[in-house]
Amino acid sequence: MGSNSCLNFAITHHCVYLSPSFSPKSKLHNPNPNHNQFLLSRSSFIPIATSSFALHSNHTLSHPRSKKLPLRNAPNFYVAASAKAEPLKVMISGAPASGKGTQCELITQKYGLVHIAAGDLLRVEVAAASENGKRAKEYMEKGELVPDEIVVMMVKERLLQPDSQEKGWLLDGYPRSSSQAAALEDFGIHPDIFILLEVPEDNLVERVVGRRLDPLTGKIYHLKYSPPESEEIASRLTQRFDDTEERVKLRLHTHHQNVEAVLSTYKDITVKAGMTNFSGWLISG
Ligand code: ADP
Repeated sequence: MGSNSCLNFAITHHCVYLSPSFSPKSKLHNPNPNHNQFLLSRSSFIPIATSSFALHSNHTLSHPRSKKLPLRNAPNFYVAASAKAEPLKVMISGAPASGKGTQCELITQKYGLVHIAAGDLLRVEVAAASENGKRAKEYMEKGELVPDEIVVMMVKERLLQPDSQEKGWLLDGYPRSSSQAAALEDFGIHPDIFILLEVPEDNLVERVVGRRLDPLTGKIYHLKYSPPESEEIASRLTQRFDDTEERVKLRLHTHHQNVEAVLSTYKDITVKAGMTNFSGWLISG
């Protein structure tokens, strides 16, 4: 919810490279400051190292500085991480309602990655009322982390499935503890880039509490900022059981602890996308 431009990134040889592009229109077309637009300032351009060519996820070579980025409704940024002629492996982390879901959708579409969300894998188990699902639900209801013995194997198996191996993956909501990060490292699974979305906490609670899902179309609404188009849609909207104020505060607290715990593992490949006071994102390495 809330962000409608895709974070762009590519792999280059031995460097991390950020290159925002800018579209003034996006600012004008953002009627609601609570909804992120990925507006980047030129000052956020941070070349950590330079490289002549970039290997993009579609395996074409291009010059990072001359590459014309495909702008959608708002500006993009361009990040390049360590070079490997392999499918792209991306991790993304962001607080509830930080715009992570939208970014995941846009990134997976754009780069053809398999989207793997730990929360979704767990919800499938909960819905199936499996043994793991029943145990997981107890923790999810409290906004606490589900124990590693349930989550780690679930995620690892999904990452190793043929589609993820062939297309690359975007892992969302995992790892959330140092032990989860260590488990993946032990399995030899290491991402090319770790994207951290940072949104002020004040905005997040309001967004979460008003968030609703249309179970028919999968579309996410916000009762105040993105209301349903008709009474018919409004009447069928559902709310995630943990999208209440009490639970979101717990989830935010847990989220901050989780991020702190995993950042050290990925510090060399972390890119932070922080919201600015003009409703955009400021990128830092
Ligand atoms: P949120 O971003 O609000 O946490 P998710 O769908 O990612 O939403 O996760 C919902 C719940 O699933 C979490 O509150 C937590 O209980 C559980 N969960 C998700 N990912 C993990 C994980 N990597 N490790 C342990 N528990 C997890």
